[in-house]
Amino acid sequence: MDKTKRRVLTERLESMDNNERLKLHKRATKLLKASRKSEGARRRQGNKVRVQNWTEDGDRRSSGRIRRSADSVQDLMLELLAEEQPDLAMDALDESVETHEGIIVSLAPKTALVRVGDGDVECVLPPFLAQAQQTEIAVGDDVLIAERGADFVVTEVLPRRTRLSRPDPANAHRERLIAANVDVIVVVASVKTPPLRPRLIDRYLIAISRGGAQPVLCVNKLDLLETDGERQEELAKLEAYRAIGIPIVSCSTVTGGGIEELRQALEGRVCAFVGHSGVGKSSLLNALDPGLELRTNTLRESDGKGRHTTTGSTLYELAGGTKVIDTPGIRGFGLWSIGADELHAHFPEFGEAAAGCHFSDCTHAGEPGCAVVEAVAAGAIPTARFDAYLRIMRSMDS
Ligand code: GDP
Ligand code: ZN
Repeated sequence: MDKTKRRVLTERLESMDNNERLKLHKRATKLLKASRKSEGARRRQGNKVRVQNWTEDGDRRSSGRIRRSADSVQDLMLELLAEEQPDLAMDALDESVETHEGIIVSLAPKTALVRVGDGDVECVLPPFLAQAQQTEIAVGDDVLIAERGADFVVTEVLPRRTRLSRPDPANAHRERLIAANVDVIVVVASVKTPPLRPRLIDRYLIAISRGGAQPVLCVNKLDLLETDGERQEELAKLEAYRAIGIPIVSCSTVTGGGIEELRQALEGRVCAFVGHSGVGKSSLLNALDPGLELRTNTLRESDGKGRHTTTGSTLYELAGGTKVIDTPGIRGFGLWSIGADELHAHFPEFGEAAAGCHFSDCTHAGEPGCAVVEAVAAGAIPTARFDAYLRIMRSMDS
């Protein structure tokens, strides 16, 4: 196998989902064992009928679907991959194939709509992507596409900056991608109907931190707060988030207040809206761009004609270049269960203090010499956030 092909296949192997890689590893190990076994058998046999076996041996070697010359599991994995994905290996070698960079706008079972410049191109997904769509490719992914025959084909998924995922319903440890490369996730909450729920916000923040995007907290329906007392009571719940540096935008789609501020916070970026149902996510999207509804319909119309019937998220472009990835799946996304050892990583505001804890693996749940508890007492860490941390940790124990 030449160097370029090896490099491309190795990259592909490294970017594979853990499960898929494990499967490939198992197959390769099996093959290697089988080939060693038969080699041993040949040798033993060879002692008896030496000359006859010479040629037979040679034939058997070259007729195998995979050359058994590969001497490590890794080599065999690459060869299996090359056999399964001839397109990938071919494109790596053929430098004359002109590729274009685009972004996935929507996905269907075997096709993807890819925005290249101002236009959308319907592309075929090669088997390695079509078969593993829920883990390998998502709306928002930057991809390379190339013309092959009458079709455009997605040839490569470029590295992801961030990911939005949820646990597979059948296997909580397996990740399903909902969207890729989202810069900002707007956590929408409302006051009164439904009331502000900090516990839900805390969980969303963990899921966002996990995927690498930036959170923005949007508190909607401010028009429903009539008295100063009400206003103070509701807004006090947000103080902890403000203290740890999360941008907060208060708005109302009824009065239009705060919409401009929200628009500016998102300008030119890729974003997604999450939050409890009924808080006003759809209303906010329409307030940001009244033309959105119209564009949604246009997209659906064209779906009817082509092969491309979308299955999940869709990327919309708002006036001003902001992109929104939307799907009901995203709006309620990803309340992952995570390990206790990972939880503290999603409370970065503890970081500085935690370095001073007596035990390096301190969980800040009552150990002696805990500097985080001290920082909470001193007011350097919001009590509400520390309570949220303990609450989530305890819910993981049970
Ligand atoms: P979604 O489920 O989060 O997408 O919420 P919707 O956008 O469908 O809104 C749910 C309900 O809240 C609808 O009846 C909206 O008219 C209402 N609503 C949305 N924004 C506001 C607002 O700023 N103030 C008030 N009073 N009602 C709102
Ligand atoms: Zn501690």
